[in-house]
Amino acid sequence: MDFKSIIRDIPNFPQQGIIFRDITPLLAHPHGLTSIIQGFQTKFVELNIGEVDAVIGIESRGFILGAALAMSLGASFVPVRKPKKLPSAVYRVEYSLEYGTDTLEIHQDALAKGERVVIIDDVIATGGTAAATAKLVQQTGAELLAYGFLIELDFLNGRKALPEVPIVSLVNY
Ligand code: IMP
Repeated sequence: MDFKSIIRDIPNFPQQGIIFRDITPLLAHPHGLTSIIQGFQTKFVELNIGEVDAVIGIESRGFILGAALAMSLGASFVPVRKPKKLPSAVYRVEYSLEYGTDTLEIHQDALAKGERVVIIDDVIATGGTAAATAKLVQQTGAELLAYGFLIELDFLNGRKALPEVPIVSLVNY
């Protein structure tokens, strides 16, 4: 499936000068989600990452892709959420944005020590969100095997911000 021809480009969203890559037409395609998940699985097999115990999905589009991948792998799904959404005890990481900071949280008991996990999100831009999520995984003691992104914005060099694990992306701009 030619993902790029189905993903929609929205100029000047959410602010002037940004081209937003809108994946909703791809999710709406009857075979879109299946093709994305097959894409992740094929690349993870090629990279020989081995058995995956849990898929971490980053709020909010990472939930859609991560949950579907978890189902397909027969793995757990664990959400990483924006602050004050998770009801039980959390680990928290604050990270910098261009202007200000953002925070992400994970339940402290979501992952067991040594559990083998992958982190999934729709887009990697600067890499700040994905790097913060790796820090949360580290706090749980789980083992990060790989990252999976539907879209990688190459010109922002986000992968440089990430720990040394394999990074899979299905569409590059
Ligand atoms: P980063 O932290 O700069 O890598 O930004 C990644 C986060 O911003 C991800 O959670 C994405 O969902 C979101 N994001 C950034 N650019 C886009 C885009 O063009 N389309 C959809 N989401 C985006």
